[in-house]
Amino acid sequence: MKPEPAFRAVCFWAVAATMLLCAGNTLAQAPPPKFHVIAIAEKGGIHKPFVDAAKLWLTSEAVADGFSIDYIENTDKIDDQFLSHYQLFIQLNFPPYAWTPTAAAAFQRYIEQARGGWIGFHHATLLGEFDGYPMWPWFSTFMGGIRFTKYIPTFVSGKVTVEDLSHPTMKNLPSSFKIENEEWYTYDHSPRPNVHVLASVDENTYTPATTIKMGDHPVVWTNEHYKARNIYIFMGHHPELFQNSAFTTLFHNSILWAAAHQ
Ligand SMILES: [Zn+2]
Repeated sequence: MKPEPAFRAVCFWAVAATMLLCAGNTLAQAPPPKFHVIAIAEKGGIHKPFVDAAKLWLTSEAVADGFSIDYIENTDKIDDQFLSHYQLFIQLNFPPYAWTPTAAAAFQRYIEQARGGWIGFHHATLLGEFDGYPMWPWFSTFMGGIRFTKYIPTFVSGKVTVEDLSHPTMKNLPSSFKIENEEWYTYDHSPRPNVHVLASVDENTYTPATTIKMGDHPVVWTNEHYKARNIYIFMGHHPELFQNSAFTTLFHNSILWAAAHQ
C-alpha cells in the first residue's frame, strides 16, 4: 500500500526539519573564548571551601561570559611564555610568597607592561615574613605599600561602603552592603595614599565588636600606578560569599573590566 500524499508530506517535512536541526546544531557550536583566564589557588588548606565554591561559580561564569579558565596550584609553570596565553590572572587565594624567581619576574612584567589584567583575593595581601619566606617588596608596593599586621580570628560581620560607584567594577552594586563572618585583615597603615580605594569596611559596624581595628580600612582597591588593570578584593575566606550577590556582582564586573584592556 502506497502512503497517502499527506503522510508523505509529513515525512518530508520531518526529515527536512531534522536536517535543519542538525545543521543548526553545527552552527550553534560554542564560539572560541573571548579571553583566557589563569587562576592560581592554594591546594587544600583552610581556604579550600572558598576555592571550591569559586571554581563552581567560575565554571558557569565562563560559559555566560565566554571565556576559558585554567587552574594552577603553585607557580612552577609561570614564565613569560606561560602567561602570554592569558588575558587575566586571578589570584584566587594564594599568598605573595614562595613564588619561583622566574614566576615572580614574569608576573611583574605582566603587570608593569599590562600583558594582562589581575584580580587578587584575600591571601594576596599576606605581606610580611611567613612560613620562612621574606616579604616580596615589589608585591607590597603593588598593594599600596602595606604590610599585614593581624586578622580577626573570631570572624565578624561588617558593612562595606562603596566609595566610587562610578567605577566599572562597582556597576549595579548598592552604595553599601553587608559581608557576614569575615576575617578582616589589618595592615601597618591604610594603602589609601598609594591606591584608588573602591570600597572600605566601617569598623564601627563590626558584629560582634572587636578591638582588632586599623581605622581607615579599605577593602577593595586598584593601583593606578601600574599599567595593568588590577583590583584587590579583600573578602575571600568563606564559600558563603558566593551566596552574596554584592560579592558575585563585584567579582563578575572585575573579570570583565580587568580582562578588557591590555
Ligand atoms: Zn582567610
